[in-house]
Amino acid sequence: MSHFTHLECSATCGAGPFAPQERQFLCPGCGMPLLARYDLEAARAWKRESLAGRDANMWRYRELMPLLPGDEPVTLGEGMTPLVHARRLGARLGLSQLLVKDESLNPTNSFKARGLSAALTRARALGATTVSLATAGNAGNAAAAYAAAAGIRCKVFIPRDAKRPFIDESRLYGADVVLVDGLITDAARIATERRIAEGWWDVSTLREPCRVEGKKTMAYEVAEQLGWTLPDWMIYPTGGGTGIVGMWKAFEELEAIGWVAKGQRPRMVTVQAEGCAPMVRALREGTEKAEPWANAHTAADGLRVPRAIGDFLILRAIRESGGTGVTVSDTEMVDAMRTMGADEGISAAPEGGAAYAACRRLVADGHIKAHDRVVLFNTGGALKYLDVLA
Ligand SMILES: *Cc1c(COP(=O)(O)O)cnc(C)c1O
Repeated sequence: MSHFTHLECSATCGAGPFAPQERQFLCPGCGMPLLARYDLEAARAWKRESLAGRDANMWRYRELMPLLPGDEPVTLGEGMTPLVHARRLGARLGLSQLLVKDESLNPTNSFKARGLSAALTRARALGATTVSLATAGNAGNAAAAYAAAAGIRCKVFIPRDAKRPFIDESRLYGADVVLVDGLITDAARIATERRIAEGWWDVSTLREPCRVEGKKTMAYEVAEQLGWTLPDWMIYPTGGGTGIVGMWKAFEELEAIGWVAKGQRPRMVTVQAEGCAPMVRALREGTEKAEPWANAHTAADGLRVPRAIGDFLILRAIRESGGTGVTVSDTEMVDAMRTMGADEGISAAPEGGAAYAACRRLVADGHIKAHDRVVLFNTGGALKYLDVLA
């Protein structure tokens, strides 16, 4: 049984709370993201031991997932990905405890599977017949696959210059793909116009409350895989920011139900590309929100996000954690993909490579110490990005 009780405005404008059955997307009061809330007091009765016999996917945490009574998840087996102790990669940097959370092993080859599994579960439960989203690539593939699994139609709006595999894979799962001139923000504008006209169900990043709930399970898993402790650092390549926002929320929930002791949250590091780093710039400038990035360009499609609606949530999480922001060049990312592959047999997307390159920088700067426990997120696999290796 899930302890899901309501949706709440993330910006505390005072609107809501909204019942789980309501067809809400952004806060009707202020247009900011909504977050799912649970009866955490009641959830204290849920014991860690109950996980022992459960399936190895993210729905093993269903008590704190946004499920309506009697509802079943739309699942392809996402989550419970390996947390690899990368000894050779760590040794290069003088780190004894470098761990890679390998999200490339999810359905559709990236961690976007988690958010879209949760979003399509809600969409199906509330009667959606067509979902739509703007995407830089991987989210569209995951949306298309989970929509197929749910028996729902899917409309994917993607920049025309996106890599071919992202376009072809969405089509493979039966989605209608619309190619848009410009960036993901331009795709979002056109997707919104069409969605309003057609009455489609929006599953875009942070414009739908359940994608964050799927992504937060990465933090539950890391905690479980580390015997209910947390690492010293988490290094996360950031685009729209659902992962950071979700994991920061997950720590709060794990503490509230007594599964993880208070005071051991990791420092969160946001990694962005030199050619698109709105969060890193906002951290340096000390602003509460991030100015949109002009002329965004990078080989890491998932990081080519010039403006994020949840910017204030991302920045708040990084600051509260005592973390920081790092930018890396495309060359560094691609070199890191090769290093991760050759050292550890890990298939890393440029975004995953960026996390390793950022880690190297933080070690060199003296931020990360030799015996710190560091978790890098390899958010996707290399195969959709073969052009960057050519
Ligand atoms: C979407 C994406 C990201 C960025 O994730 P957010 O949680 O939206 O910040 C990073 N890496 C890959 C491979 C992605 O597809």
